Amino acid sequence: MQKTDLMEKIVSLCKRRGFIFQSSEIYGGLGSAWDYGPLGVELKRNLKNAWWKSIVHNRDDIVGLDTSILMHPNTWKASGHTENFTDILVDCRKCKKRFRQDMIGDKCPSCGARDFTDGRAFNLMLKTYLGAVEDESSVCYLRPETAQGIFVNFNNVLDTTRKKLPFGIAQIGKSFRNEITPGNFTFRTREFEQMEIEYFVRPDEAANIHERWVQDRFEWYLGLGIKKENLQLRKHADDELAHYAAACTDVEYKFPFGWSELEGIANRADFDLKQHSKVSGTELQYTDNLTNEKFFPYIIEPSGGVDRATLAFLVDAYHEEEVKGETRVVLKFSKELAPVHVAVLPLLKKNADIVELAKRIKQDLHRDFVCVYDDTASIGKLYRRQDEVGTFYCVTVDVQSLEDKQVTVRDRDTMQQERIPVDNLKKYLSEQIFN
Ligand code: ATP
Repeated sequence: MQKTDLMEKIVSLCKRRGFIFQSSEIYGGLGSAWDYGPLGVELKRNLKNAWWKSIVHNRDDIVGLDTSILMHPNTWKASGHTENFTDILVDCRKCKKRFRQDMIGDKCPSCGARDFTDGRAFNLMLKTYLGAVEDESSVCYLRPETAQGIFVNFNNVLDTTRKKLPFGIAQIGKSFRNEITPGNFTFRTREFEQMEIEYFVRPDEAANIHERWVQDRFEWYLGLGIKKENLQLRKHADDELAHYAAACTDVEYKFPFGWSELEGIANRADFDLKQHSKVSGTELQYTDNLTNEKFFPYIIEPSGGVDRATLAFLVDAYHEEEVKGETRVVLKFSKELAPVHVAVLPLLKKNADIVELAKRIKQDLHRDFVCVYDDTASIGKLYRRQDEVGTFYCVTVDVQSLEDKQVTVRDRDTMQQERIPVDNLKKYLSEQIFN
């Protein structure tokens, strides 16, 4: 399959089956904004839940936080975003299109001309005004990253949880960037979700802990089903690093449009808490209660994108095969991520007894599984529909089921079918899905 074909197929499947829609489509769409449909919202939520469970619930050293999108404008002065969160833009003099200088060569990607204006700095923060008066004093920004909400709450979290170094604070939330060249579907958008960890450590432990986080984050994607050959680590060269950062490594995924960043894991040294202490006048140092030593912890920051990861898992799950002369499309999601666990399907929708039993089974199963009932097509079509959205098992109720109280359970990946007694169904599915 051509790589461009694959991306087109994914975009089309996402729309057709209700994973992702263009935002404000009936008005012609809004550049680079996307809406998650009934299946997309489940997939994305499963991904965030898997992250939260592994980062917050399964560990004793990390707590969660949910901070506001709007923050005091001085936050962005302290963090350096007001001054430095810029891309250098150039305009093509021939076709008048605008590009990020670092993303093009010496030829215009649109018309091929080699005639650009000089580069100009363009700030990526989205600006708005708070309150009734629109002047400089009411300027506010939509946060371009969730991290700063964590830094400004450092004392609050420390005081309320009494955590000792090393410890972390995790947050999932929306961020906004006025990207110049959004694109590649949900890969680069102006509104997106991040999942970020700020992990506070003693300066002399930072390098080792950074290395550990790089490995942990790499393994996390593999554990949720990404194929190893499609994932790599890329260490930043010294000239790529932010001036304060001691090191950074990206987890990259092999998208159809090339290897691209899913998550960056940076050693930010002591830049953030020092800056916020300076600008706010509030002391944000850590005190060692054994030695009374006071210092600014170093920060290790694994910072990933929810939308990018969701797209990577969609691409990675996409699978086509020939079955009896037809193409079968399957989204081979892992058990943690699959939007639907079980579909209950009546073989004959005109048979009231079959429909009643199927609906009863669905009612019973949906306490433990994400479950759907569908009788809107023939069984062959229903199977194909469920394969295409990654449903783990199809449970079919037929005439025989009314007699022997057994149903057919079909496995998504092997297409093997097994007769299972209705009374054992829950136990059987639990063993398959939750083990
Ligand atoms: P890029 O180089 O691709 O612009 P970045 O290095 O600026 O990304 P970070 O500031 O490190 O990104 O943000 C952390 C994570 O947030 C990224 O790894 C990515 O997954 C996600 N992210 C950043 N910008 C966007 C965007 N415009 N659209 C979707 N996700 C984004």
